[in-house]
Amino acid sequence: MSNPFANAMSQLDKAAKIMNLDKGIHAILKQPDRVLTVSIPVKMDNGEVRVFTGYRSQFNNAMGPYKGGIRYHQNVSIDEVKALSFWMMVKCATVNIPMGGGKGGIIVDSKTLSVGELERLSRGYIQKIWREIGSDKDVPAPDMYTTPTIMGWMRDEFEKLLGQADPGVITGKAIKDGGSEGRETATAQGGVYVVKELAKKLNLNPGETKVAIQGMGNVGGFMAKILKSEGYSVVAISDSKGGVVVRNNVALDLDKVFEHKEKTGSLKDCPDTENITNEELLELPVDILVPSAMENQITTENVNNIKAKVIVEMANGPTTPEADEILKERGIILVPDVLANAGGVTVSCFEWEQNIKNERWTEAEVFAKLEPMMVQAFDEVWETKEKYSIDMRTAAFVKAIERVANKIRI
Ligand code: NAD
Repeated sequence: MSNPFANAMSQLDKAAKIMNLDKGIHAILKQPDRVLTVSIPVKMDNGEVRVFTGYRSQFNNAMGPYKGGIRYHQNVSIDEVKALSFWMMVKCATVNIPMGGGKGGIIVDSKTLSVGELERLSRGYIQKIWREIGSDKDVPAPDMYTTPTIMGWMRDEFEKLLGQADPGVITGKAIKDGGSEGRETATAQGGVYVVKELAKKLNLNPGETKVAIQGMGNVGGFMAKILKSEGYSVVAISDSKGGVVVRNNVALDLDKVFEHKEKTGSLKDCPDTENITNEELLELPVDILVPSAMENQITTENVNNIKAKVIVEMANGPTTPEADEILKERGIILVPDVLANAGGVTVSCFEWEQNIKNERWTEAEVFAKLEPMMVQAFDEVWETKEKYSIDMRTAAFVKAIERVANKIRI
């Protein structure tokens, strides 16, 4: 497995060369501003003390406070957290929100902890990093295996230590605790704004555009429903156990598909559809393929069998760097994750802004602000791609790094 931080830095180097980035700025962006490594002692339910290791990488704050989730996973490593904090910097700058890049993690298999142990671990992590976070410094959020409840414990612990309220210190909170309306569907909705802009550029008529979606969770499920409401033909969808497809010129009856999954716990044998594996879904002859589940799905193993004209990366990192090169050679357009799924972090930024200003925006207000930001980000990445004759991923990196570079003060 290649080192994620080395991958991130090779992406930086590539963008730096294309844009002729100043050597000093390039040197600054080759490592995070600060990485905290902390030991978190937790009294377990059986009375024993276990010590967990946690990280917080603060990559760059030229655009605004560091921003990024906290991951609980047994495979968390310092290089992974550093790489993810770099990609958060790129994502925030791609959509031009006033946030920098950060990411945190704890090495833990959270499923093995009781609720009480999980709460003590989460509070213990904040006790170790609280001096370095805050709504004007570093704003964490949920990531893999962290939830609004965990964010609530973290905010509570932070405010206790600080001795005053600071609800904007953490986003991804439940609505009753100061979370934002629209956050649940924001990532999918942002992805749909991007698809609509792309359709204009490629002259795609929604009614004749077939879409296959891998994953039907928060991102894939809402993406399917919103695309359908915009007139697109969603012909295939899957969950971790496999998927369903309709062939010929019809679309899935999504209400029936979701109902079948709800009733039976899986998509298998959903009436009027054909069962397919996740591997087969990726290779369907569709116009748009939307990976919305996991990383490393499009690899050198299957990239030559991909038949979609366009890939919209709603998951983080669904395409390996090697497969990315082959897609480029094959002329398949790929909208990168840092642009396609940035609606989520943008609405997290809106949550932070509402908390700071003590405001509450309606869902309609949230989406009225999100749409022009996603459209503008798409247009800027597209222009950058044309200007340098590069792919959209590299274009997003060039545009984002240009923005960060302009804000760095030496
Ligand atoms: P989720 O847990 O709600 O849903 C994940 C979906 O993927 C489920 O339908 C699950 O059945 C499916 N799945 C799991 N393993 C699979 C496999 N091996 N093959 C096919 N499908 C599989 O997660 P989510 O929030 O929808 O996130 C999905 C992706 O989008 C992740 O990569 C995440 O990092 C990324 N993302 C999410 C957000 C957000 O706001 N939720 C924001 C940006 C990026």
